[in-house]
Amino acid sequence: MAVFNRKQNTIKKRVTIEGIGLHSGNQVKMSFNPAPPNSGIVFKRIDLKNDPTIQAVVENVTSTERSTTIGVKGVKVKTIEHLMAALSAFEIDNIVIEIDNDELPALDGSAIKYAEVLEKAGIKGQKVNKDIIKIKDNFFIKSENTYLGVFPADEFKINYLLKYEHPKIGTEYLEYTFDKNSFIKEIMPARTFGFAEEIEKLKRKGLALGGSLDNAILLKENKVVNNLRFKDEFVRHKVLDLVGDFYLNGPLVGEIIAIRTGHKDNHKMNQIIKKEINNF
Ligand SMILES: [Zn+2]
Repeated sequence: MAVFNRKQNTIKKRVTIEGIGLHSGNQVKMSFNPAPPNSGIVFKRIDLKNDPTIQAVVENVTSTERSTTIGVKGVKVKTIEHLMAALSAFEIDNIVIEIDNDELPALDGSAIKYAEVLEKAGIKGQKVNKDIIKIKDNFFIKSENTYLGVFPADEFKINYLLKYEHPKIGTEYLEYTFDKNSFIKEIMPARTFGFAEEIEKLKRKGLALGGSLDNAILLKENKVVNNLRFKDEFVRHKVLDLVGDFYLNGPLVGEIIAIRTGHKDNHKMNQIIKKEINNF
């Protein structure tokens, strides 16, 4: 681990965004507010008594099933990963996100609406330095079907391999070097996806209740029901999720190799990196 820095950023003015939660189906309103240096990314549940807050940090992750949830003392916010990816692209370190429900809005299933609203808010530089983690060692975790490795590099690079039995997905591979403009254009519009056969099962578990063709790519039998935005939209979305999850540790410089991974693997690796940061 090594550390170098840039200046911290917040947003210039308050902006709002609303929609329905993918898993809960609830109507949600959020507002983004400027915040002072070193205050971090903070969610504020304004629908609850005393407006409890939750810091978006690795230690507060409480669930990684289908999406990333953070919580403190039973107060939660679910599905934070697309917004986290957007904050990462805009290098926003300090922000207060007021939310009136327990899950972020699904919007169009991608992160592109967050790019639009953050453009509107504007970025404000702050005078305090932000540490950036530079990976100096090799770390990896693996299971029977998944692999996630993090290695030293001079940039933030992601190599992602996705493989599904579904004939319309099959194997997709993306080598991507992170930079704000390409992230907004090439990665942030990529939408989440679901399989029709699985959706009934998810609904019985109380998940995907707000899912529709407006906020997810639907795969049914041998076809994709809606039109794809990119030929390899699935792997692009996996990269979006990964970048969002990794931003729980703040900005990072290193190379990631990911094979068939998800939120659970991202969280495990985040914990390893966090331990290294604490030991540094
Ligand atoms: Zn996602």
